Amino acid sequence: MEKKIRTAYLSMGGNIGDREENLRSAVRFIRDHEGIESIRTSSLYETEPVGYDDQPYFLNICAEVRTTLTPYELLDLAHETENLLGRKRGIRFGPRTVDVDILLYEDFTSDDKVLTVPHPRMYERAFVLVPLKELTDIDVPVPEDKSVVLKGPFEV
Ligand code: AMP
Repeated sequence: MEKKIRTAYLSMGGNIGDREENLRSAVRFIRDHEGIESIRTSSLYETEPVGYDDQPYFLNICAEVRTTLTPYELLDLAHETENLLGRKRGIRFGPRTVDVDILLYEDFTSDDKVLTVPHPRMYERAFVLVPLKELTDIDVPVPEDKSVVLKGPFEV
């Protein structure tokens, strides 16, 4: 039976090492998965840390994926991507090589701790909403407390 293709939105960011190259590697890894039909990315943004201030600025992007993966399979892929890039699970909201979050998955919603969709903190985060608005119409206000600076096009 043919699998249905769904649209999902991801947020990716990191603030350790070669931040841009780490994001490129993450996007390539996701793009090359057999369950990913296509991926489209936003521009690249440099963003002020949220939640824990004593750490370097992040680079962030958002991505739109067209996928045959279920939400939980997509979460597995997000975790595989983070592990590949050697993310250390240390301080919550602390430094990381690459963090991959699922923001939205079609009209799927979930309150599960393992996978909460829409992502519970996405509406409070300018570093998520500014790149996301490049990829999809989403009529929500962007908080202005933290800086989100356009660095330019993101090219894989
Ligand atoms: P964090 O360290 O903030 O990236 O949180 C990672 C944990 O959040 C993982 O254990 C995930 O299972 C869980 N989680 C819940 N909802 C989501 C989501 N929408 N996207 C990514 N991770 C999620």
